[in-house]
Amino acid sequence: MPQYDVIIIGGGMVGASLACALSGRGLRIALIEAVELETRREAGYDDRVIALAYGTRRIFDGLQLWGALAADTTPIHRIHVSDRGHFGMVHMDRVEEGLPALGYVVPARAIGRVLAEAVAGIEGLDSYCPATVTAVKRTAAAVEVDMSQEGLMTTLSGRLVVAADGADSPVREQFGIDCTERDYGQTAIVTNITPQLAHNHIAYERFTDSGPLALLPMSDQRCAVVWTVASSQAGSIMELDEAGFIAALQSRFGYRLGRLERVGRRQAWPLRLVQAKETVRERLALIGNAVHTLHPVAGQGFNLGARDVAVLAEVLVDAIDAGEDPGSLQVLQRYADWRVRDHRNVAVFTDGLARLFSLSLPGLGVARSAGMLAFDLVPPAKRLLTRMTMGRSGRTPRLARGLPL
Ligand SMILES: Cc1cc2nc3c(=O)[nH]c(=O)nc-3n(C[C@H](O)[C@H](O)[C@H](O)COP(=O)(O)OP(=O)(O)OC[C@H]3O[C@@H](n4cnc5c(N)ncnc54)[C@H](O)[C@@H]3O)c2cc1C
Repeated sequence: MPQYDVIIIGGGMVGASLACALSGRGLRIALIEAVELETRREAGYDDRVIALAYGTRRIFDGLQLWGALAADTTPIHRIHVSDRGHFGMVHMDRVEEGLPALGYVVPARAIGRVLAEAVAGIEGLDSYCPATVTAVKRTAAAVEVDMSQEGLMTTLSGRLVVAADGADSPVREQFGIDCTERDYGQTAIVTNITPQLAHNHIAYERFTDSGPLALLPMSDQRCAVVWTVASSQAGSIMELDEAGFIAALQSRFGYRLGRLERVGRRQAWPLRLVQAKETVRERLALIGNAVHTLHPVAGQGFNLGARDVAVLAEVLVDAIDAGEDPGSLQVLQRYADWRVRDHRNVAVFTDGLARLFSLSLPGLGVARSAGMLAFDLVPPAKRLLTRMTMGRSGRTPRLARGLPL
């Protein structure tokens, strides 16, 4: 039976990032992913994007991967938050933060390609893809992972299993870890548009009567649209023809960017909050969406997962250097303890925003506007929000300071 130090289940953005973070340490690593990556797909108008916080850029710096990604990124210089039909507004600016950018908009395809290329070059890593994990069993000193690859069943043994297998995490379920789950009754409609006016690297977050609407600056003067609507309305909005869709979007967003033109392919993502009640067990650690799946209102999901990677990698590397067993509960608990505050803060923040701005009670709009205005006028409160959305609050792991492990 093949033996590994670490078996990572799930080779999405978070699992693949962890493999990169653990490279160069002489560890035997297995990375198991069910779906083959489409890394060779050409860039296109419809590219789906991820907004990376500045703190995540630092993690990619630490992983020595930012150089390979930089050409595909569009920096965010300013974030403009507003409430449709009300006067409140919040601005955040890179100049106030003394940074080159508040964050970056990057095609998910580009992140996948850069990670896949880096993973392919990791010494001591075996990549099993496409391969599906079917069972995970814990023994006294190891974990055994059964997987099916091209119809063949194989069992791997590891000192530690990391579940990076997404919101429905089969591994989390196998270990009997409960989670709290709430359906928002909302769906994110994602597409790209080209506005008449230049976006000037401003990200817009607009709270509308039907839910939050984000327009993020992209290359070629496109903007990525993440429009959250009640799930009961999503079907009819998805069915609108191009002119009807643009008109509906324009009426929610207004004319800050002039007329909205050319719209791309639309995709619908039903939204829910999933929070695992435990982050670690003996020989198991959960990272990324497997431990927290959030509302995309502030684009925090992958950013939070990247910070899981930075902290878990640091805890494991330090433990191994000190001669400790990386799968022991004692070691893994350090990761869980370090992450608990960030997990809770970001979940409360995104959940609160999603709920507050989805309600349309009489008087609430005015209260929200006053709150947003006050927020814009109180630098310490705004600074805290900015730091949190940029992933720069709390104790910072080495990778998030741009340093190698
Ligand atoms: C509309 C929308 C917009 C978003 N925008 C942003 C944004 O701007 N910024 C941001 O930071 N986040 C954003 N997010 C969140 C972000 O997309 C997720 O947090 C992130 O992709 C989670 O990555 P992951 O690797 O943890 O999970 P996943 O991407 O779900 O990866 C899990 C992987 O595990 C594999 N897997 C599952 N089961 C098995 C098995 N049994 N065997 C083998 N492999 C298995 C799957 O194939 C999958 O590849 C957004 C989310 C949505 C819905």
